[in-house]
Amino acid sequence: AWPGIRGRRVLVTGASSGLGAHFAQVLAAQGAHVVAAARRIDRVQKLCDGLSAEGYQATPLALDVSSAQTVGDALQDHVFDLVVNNAGVSHSCAALDLDADTLDQVIDTNVKGVFHVARATAAAMKADGRPGSIVNIASILGSRVSGHVAAYAASKGAVLQLTRALALEWARHGIRVNALSPGYIETELNRDFFATDPGQALIRRVPQRRLGQPQDLDGALLLLLSDQGRFITGADIAVDGGHL
Ligand code: NDP
Repeated sequence: AWPGIRGRRVLVTGASSGLGAHFAQVLAAQGAHVVAAARRIDRVQKLCDGLSAEGYQATPLALDVSSAQTVGDALQDHVFDLVVNNAGVSHSCAALDLDADTLDQVIDTNVKGVFHVARATAAAMKADGRPGSIVNIASILGSRVSGHVAAYAASKGAVLQLTRALALEWARHGIRVNALSPGYIETELNRDFFATDPGQALIRRVPQRRLGQPQDLDGALLLLLSDQGRFITGADIAVDGGHL
């Protein structure tokens, strides 16, 4: 078991599918009390019912991260020790074809959403005098680019700078803020794409020559959240099978 996880209250955003659902399961199995948040409350309810049936502590929370007001209202009665800022949307299209609404959605979710949740949870930690650890799920596309990812890459680059800026401001309150940057990780939503020729071509560019699995992220996540990572703040750990 990783020290400093058992019995702690953990918020995981975007827990209704993919990596967020996986992170909620991993943290519940480490003995944390997980609050699994997303807009699709039926899906997080089902996840939490399953975890509770296994004897773990998990509570669903309806949360749209893109609105400061909604985040403030939803989180006002909560104090978390640990936060996984995972909710995000990805979008792929040529920059000149990107419509303004899509651009807003990517920035509102991936950048402002991370900021809203980090501010609301850090304010409660500070008011309560508790140390805390916040992990922002960025992406290797926050520091490298490929085609047709301008909005997404810009949003994840912003997450990395936000992480460093918040880490600097909040270190004095005992609140650590780090980023975890996954490479290509197989989930339900992208499995079909990675089976196609362009998907296979991407995998061949990964030095380890394979797609990541959600479990490949566990070590980095638990290091950053747990007491083992106590002197790490403002960092970014890439988990990507080698530099692409
Ligand atoms: P999914 O699409 O499976 O999951 C995204 C999650 O974010 C969903 O649970 C969704 O829940 C939630 N979400 C989206 N918009 C909002 C919103 N406005 N408010 C609250 N929740 C929201 O994607 P992944 O699991 O693949 O991605 C998770 C994170 O990991 C993202 O930040 C992504 O950018 C990042 N990432 C993923 C990689 C991969 O290869 N899979 C690689 C690099 C980074 P709901 O719709 O119910 O609200």
